[in-house]
Amino acid sequence: MAKQPISDVETVLHQYDDRFLECRSGQHDWTRLGMFQMQEGLIAVREHCRRCGGQVTKYWGSDGARYASRYMMPDGYSIRGLFVSKADLRMETMKRYSAAGAIFGSEDEMLKAAQVTRSAQVTRRGNRR
Ligand SMILES: [Zn+2]
Repeated sequence: MAKQPISDVETVLHQYDDRFLECRSGQHDWTRLGMFQMQEGLIAVREHCRRCGGQVTKYWGSDGARYASRYMMPDGYSIRGLFVSKADLRMETMKRYSAAGAIFGSEDEMLKAAQVTRSAQVTRRGNRR
């Protein structure tokens, strides 16, 4: 199937929900709801996205192996019948941030607007493993 004209993608993405766009152009804001036993040696791990409301169930073996996950996404999340690339999603995201005046001229301006200091950011990064 030939790729759709870009104007169709732009039109669809222009009306696309902010929360869905944020998740699809970046990453979901997963919070673990819990785990439950599926069968001997297989645990289901359920996570919920605090932004878009999507859910994922991951399957972990007792040996630490990871199996195919199952996603359940809210209505409107999927864009049917149209190929939308990650680049399309990033371009729409930049367009919205630009329109909102949220693409800053420097890192310092961005941090000031986000009320995050450089030292706080470094500390947080340093604590990550
Ligand atoms: Zn999400």
